[in-house]
Amino acid sequence: MNTRSCQPCTACCDGWVKMTIQGVPVFPGHPCPHSTRQGCDDYLNRPIDPCVNFSCGWIMAASPLPDWMKPDNARVIVLFNKFQWQGVPVDLAVPVGKRIPPRALTWLRNFAETHRRPLVHTEQILVGGEYQEQQQVFGHGPPAFQQELLRRQEAGLALWS
Ligand code: SF4
Ligand code: SF4
Repeated sequence: MNTRSCQPCTACCDGWVKMTIQGVPVFPGHPCPHSTRQGCDDYLNRPIDPCVNFSCGWIMAASPLPDWMKPDNARVIVLFNKFQWQGVPVDLAVPVGKRIPPRALTWLRNFAETHRRPLVHTEQILVGGEYQEQQQVFGHGPPAFQQELLRRQEAGLALWS
């Protein structure tokens, strides 16, 4: 049974995961207009997609993330199995803020190595104090995985949908 609850975390609502809510783009620096930073002011009417359907890697059932990795505390949102590479699940970690703090990044890298799951983690780009929609992307995994990540970035191809 999942005994975890989101409150008071609103990291996904606050733009650290890119999404569109009722036609409004939500991305770093541009939180959902319904976020109160402690919850949702229109919770009963929140959209099914993405709000009801979304679970980050911390809140999902049987999450391997420890309690301290809750996004509002660890300052990272983890999305397990975001895409596949050569049939292997790849996990994605995005910062809640400019970059993922060292303690959380070390935990995630150790997890990736122990479970042989490639990891993609990102860092926000700030220009003139404004977060950009694009992020810096880093890969952690076998050399062939990192090379493909680089090749796709250079070719301007999406790394995940
Ligand atoms: S980031 Fe995770 S824990 Fe935080 S509000 Fe979103 S789903 Fe809940
Ligand atoms: S509508 Fe509510 S639950 Fe959905 S992103 Fe906005 S604040 Fe979060």
